[in-house]
Amino acid sequence: MEHWDVVVVGAGPAGLCAGIYCGRAKLRTLVLDKLAPGGALLITDLVEDYPGFDRISGCDLAERMEAQARKFGAEFRTAEVKEISLNGTKKIVTTDEGTLTTDVVIITSGSTANRLGIPGESKFFGKGISTCALCDGAFFQNEVIAVVGGGDSALKEAIFLTKFASRIYLVHRREQFRAQKNWQDKVESHPKIELVLDSVVEEVLGEATVSAIRIQNLKTEERRTLDVTGMFVFIGSQPNTYFAKEHLQHDVNGYLVTDAEMATAIPGIYVAGDVRSQLTRQISNAVGDATVASVAAEHYLEHLRGHQA
Ligand code: NAP
Repeated sequence: MEHWDVVVVGAGPAGLCAGIYCGRAKLRTLVLDKLAPGGALLITDLVEDYPGFDRISGCDLAERMEAQARKFGAEFRTAEVKEISLNGTKKIVTTDEGTLTTDVVIITSGSTANRLGIPGESKFFGKGISTCALCDGAFFQNEVIAVVGGGDSALKEAIFLTKFASRIYLVHRREQFRAQKNWQDKVESHPKIELVLDSVVEEVLGEATVSAIRIQNLKTEERRTLDVTGMFVFIGSQPNTYFAKEHLQHDVNGYLVTDAEMATAIPGIYVAGDVRSQLTRQISNAVGDATVASVAAEHYLEHLRGHQA
């Protein structure tokens, strides 16, 4: 069976960085992703807080990181990881494209957007409801839409969507946003954005596509209908851990727990980026995690080979 030093599961910023560091350390490194390399960067219009780049598109940053990883010898393959199991110190990685073994796994599988779970959401998903502004924003040229959420994603994407929509209702369940102050200032002063605070969306209405949402103000209990043709939902995400959750410790929200060296309780399995239990989920800390995980993996392999020699 094909054997690698390091298999990286997921090719977002953390996975690409692990590819750079492990490749540069001359470890035989394979980076797997079920989609094209880039992860969440591919659906990020503009990155303006990654050190050294005050303005770069997510796709450009992903391309640069991928090229850098390839330059140092990391290989890339499109495959979905289904299971990680153990055979002594070897890890067996089962994918939809076959099975391989490796001494080290670095899990950088990111997270998947949450849904509201309200009536009409499933029916209209892809027909007016989206979790990706970069993918679907242009369909709403001069239209009135809603954005749901109060974190960095909701506020940042609401600003992005003002390029297209004529008016945006920003619906948030509390009065305070958890987003960075910078985004708060931008949405609060934007002429196209109307804040709808202390409110939740109860139902999405329409025939073939979205025509309105029904919202309730949680303080006054008042209900009203907003005429919109689209709704973008940014209410956090769930970690992608289904292939390894049984073996690994996770927090109450399902994010994987590591020590300060990104190590799990299983020697040779490391975790980096959004899938890891931590305070912030930025590109900068994803690559920081991956750097630590890669160096720790290198030390682990030296130790392992010392014992095997
Ligand atoms: P988040 O920070 O977890 O925020 C989720 C938002 O959705 C919160 O405001 C939350 O409300 C709301 N929410 C959650 N469940 C809801 C529900 N069922 N109904 C209505 N509202 C709900 O998620 P995120 O914005 O996706 O950000 C994730 C991470 O990525 C964060 O660490 C963030 O800093 C980072 N990020 C950074 C940038 C950047 O530009 N640097 C951009 C995007 C994301 P409450 O506030 O009431 O809990």
